[in-house]
Amino acid sequence: MPVRKIILLFLFISSTIAHAQPKIVVGIVIDQMRFDYLYRFQSKYSETGFKRLLKEGYNCKNTNYNYVPTYTGPGHASVYTGTTPAVHGIISNNWFEKETGKNVYCCDDKNVTTLGGGSKKEGAMSPQRCITTTVGDELKLFTNKKSKVIGIALKDRGAIMPAGHMANAAYWFSSSEGNWISSTFYMQALPKWVDDFNAQKLGDKYLSQKWETSFPIANYTGSLSDDNPYEGVFKGEEKPVFPHDLPLLKTKNEGYGILKEVPFGNSLTKDFAIATIKAEQLGKNGVTDLLAVSFSSTDYVGHRFGISSIELEDTYIKLDKDLSEFFAFLDSYLGKENVLVFLTADHGAVENPQYLVDSKVNAAYVDENKIEEGLTKMLQQNFTDSLLLSFSNQQIFFNHAMIKQRKINYTELEKSTVAFLVTQPSVRQVLTKNNLLENQYLDLPRTLVQNGFSPTRSGDVVVVYEPSVIELTNDKKGTTHGAPYSYDTHVPLLWWGYKVKKAEDVEQVNITDIAPTLSQFLTIQSPSGCSGKPIPGVLK
Ligand SMILES: [Zn+2]
Repeated sequence: MPVRKIILLFLFISSTIAHAQPKIVVGIVIDQMRFDYLYRFQSKYSETGFKRLLKEGYNCKNTNYNYVPTYTGPGHASVYTGTTPAVHGIISNNWFEKETGKNVYCCDDKNVTTLGGGSKKEGAMSPQRCITTTVGDELKLFTNKKSKVIGIALKDRGAIMPAGHMANAAYWFSSSEGNWISSTFYMQALPKWVDDFNAQKLGDKYLSQKWETSFPIANYTGSLSDDNPYEGVFKGEEKPVFPHDLPLLKTKNEGYGILKEVPFGNSLTKDFAIATIKAEQLGKNGVTDLLAVSFSSTDYVGHRFGISSIELEDTYIKLDKDLSEFFAFLDSYLGKENVLVFLTADHGAVENPQYLVDSKVNAAYVDENKIEEGLTKMLQQNFTDSLLLSFSNQQIFFNHAMIKQRKINYTELEKSTVAFLVTQPSVRQVLTKNNLLENQYLDLPRTLVQNGFSPTRSGDVVVVYEPSVIELTNDKKGTTHGAPYSYDTHVPLLWWGYKVKKAEDVEQVNITDIAPTLSQFLTIQSPSGCSGKPIPGVLK
């Protein structure tokens, strides 16, 4: 064969191989999106946002978190590492660190500093506490670091955990400056295009308007009334009603933090995601790139107003518009067939417990301070000292130095603690470290506790509350999450684009199955701690 023909053949083969991969993977994680939001608000969604993925993509309708606690830091880490806190080590957003006796944050890192303005603390962040690799790390290793991997979210943990250790960048939002910032963990200075984007001051533009509903308020029949007793209020407002005056709220709340807590925070995230793809030429680098985008405003709105508020419904309607624009951009920029998109959430949320109680459903608020007080008293009586260092994330941390020094019988201590805790109101189950290390639980919720339990980082005793029980707040408004129950664990999972067929199924999928499924699409190794399995239906 003449040399020219061989070269042509080689070019042909290599270009075919190159085309056997998506040009870009776009991971979308929506903070606090319950599975049912795909359907509850569907009559007001456009044809080109969520519904485009439902119409053209693969819908894994039975996707659940397979550990507790269902919080944002662990959620994002689990999606991209394909494993649970027991292995990746992100056991909560904040936790009591046994070695230092201090409370730590999942992303804090004293060895790095802020890039792009904002306070010193806002940028002192990295993924160093995550023990395992992510899909992005494995993609980087596979392509000899040629792939670009970038994470974006208003919340630092929503950008940093997905982007992984080898990422080119993670960008998050500075509440003090209204800018997208990063840390020296990733680079020495922000790229010029990020400075240029920040210079547009889009945050000011978004905060110069009123938050009005997208449709006439009378059309929001799927939610409670605009002024209902289960909603919190913004600082600076008397009532939880539309329209919300954002310029007023900006002055009353100081700085740009308020932008995170309204739907336009998601719009700014979408703007920045599109700018990132264009500036970094993602999908046009000859290898697969990965962009992880998380939309955080949904979580703030849910926490404040609850899951049955018009504010929440309107936030999803506006997010649907932003997603519609984002999908249209991906399609025109790279072509749908070259883009692999997945969309999921980092956890769900419970219906406001007081609303449930008022609707004759069993639900409650648990006063953890009271439990802690009672436990302290019991331990002081039986063991001469409370021995209690922390009660946080539904876990008891004992003072092991004191236990050793006073030669306290640890088994007795465990027994007394369990005996006390199981008698407390709203407590369903209590598991000890020894229980969790010696047994392999297969039933709910114990298997979820086990998957969330890191022997090195977690506490001595874990408490599980009954369903629809949350920690007591002053006003019993809004909602939260963190439990091992379907309202917190059941989230959307949609796949769209590259080689994804249109279908839906109700096979059980764990959140940890996303990363190995992506790895199969990309023919790369699964992340180092991966405990999930590829989803067969999506790959067929
Ligand atoms: Zn939250």
